[in-house]
Amino acid sequence: MYFKDIIGQEEIKKQLIKNVGSNRISHAYLFAESEGRGALGMAFAYAQFINCLDQTRLKDSCGRCSSCLKFQKIAHPDLHIFFPTATSSKEKKNISSKTYINQFREIILESHYLSLSQWYDKIGVEKKHAIINADDCNEIINKASIKPYENKFKIFIVWMVEKLYPKAAPKILKIVEEPPENTIFIFITHNPDKLPETILSRLQLIRFPPLSNLEIKNALINKYNCNEETASNISFMASGNFTEALHKYYLTQPDDIFYFFRDWLRSCYSLSTKEIFSHVEKISLLGREKQKAFLNYGLKIINECLLINYNANKPQKLFEEEADFLLKFSKFTNHKNIISVTNRFNESIIHIERNANSKIVFADLSFKLHKLLKYGSK
Ligand SMILES: [Zn+2]
Repeated sequence: MYFKDIIGQEEIKKQLIKNVGSNRISHAYLFAESEGRGALGMAFAYAQFINCLDQTRLKDSCGRCSSCLKFQKIAHPDLHIFFPTATSSKEKKNISSKTYINQFREIILESHYLSLSQWYDKIGVEKKHAIINADDCNEIINKASIKPYENKFKIFIVWMVEKLYPKAAPKILKIVEEPPENTIFIFITHNPDKLPETILSRLQLIRFPPLSNLEIKNALINKYNCNEETASNISFMASGNFTEALHKYYLTQPDDIFYFFRDWLRSCYSLSTKEIFSHVEKISLLGREKQKAFLNYGLKIINECLLINYNANKPQKLFEEEADFLLKFSKFTNHKNIISVTNRFNESIIHIERNANSKIVFADLSFKLHKLLKYGSK
């Protein structure tokens, strides 16, 4: 991967290139970002740049030397990659990052703007179980103790380090405190606050800011041949997250969640008990994470309705059906009920997090929404 493959983040690229030029490569970095800002791709681009054999390289790796050729395929013997995994519910066997390395390579080569949920879908596991497990931690310790095979540096990329098996943290801390020679760790996290302070303080922290709308728009036009109007709409909705922007770009119709949410809400409003329970039944079959995503989607829709009501905004949606629904729904939300509606969604999220019975949570929410949307504030 090249630096040029990463959208924006020019300051970070400059800093990393300078680290190499002045021989001040840190032995352990923490790339902290929210989804879709490019930290994972940056880690691969930096690893390739550090090990590029072309001594005249200035702003990017050469792409032709024997090291670059292997890094381009994410298959260099001195590149070690770790990420969250879990056994799917069907098979119970010992697994670790090694088990899924081919799938990880495949998905990264498709797009390095990878979300955790895309990764879990790829290997068919539910989010709550996935960790970087004890076998992975042992493997990190073992691999760190051997000499690089071919290059000057061996590089460890650990994606989502906050998912590290908690009992292994002291071992990892030890190796970060006393790093073996010519070893570079690049840890990537979406939640630096979840890392133990003892580890945090040993890492060089680099924070990735959100991408600007213009960066997202230009990347969609130049790299994906997107037309200007769509690129502009998507960049507005993506909130600095290119993973989200790509997701929207590849949609040919609204997400399934839109239809599901719209139909459920209609049944709540019209108090069609049979339909309400049929929706509640379907929701209860989803995992907890998907149930939370559904409720968060609802909160987002409510926010968008507010913008429409108070700023007389036109709905910023990619598809006519979505814009239509937003416009209609916004007529039922107002200053009297909006806080209560928002609170009901937030309470439901908390109940789901606390493992409450999801059928009861969603049935209760459905009937409360009926009252709020139809009769206002109570
Ligand atoms: Zn090279």
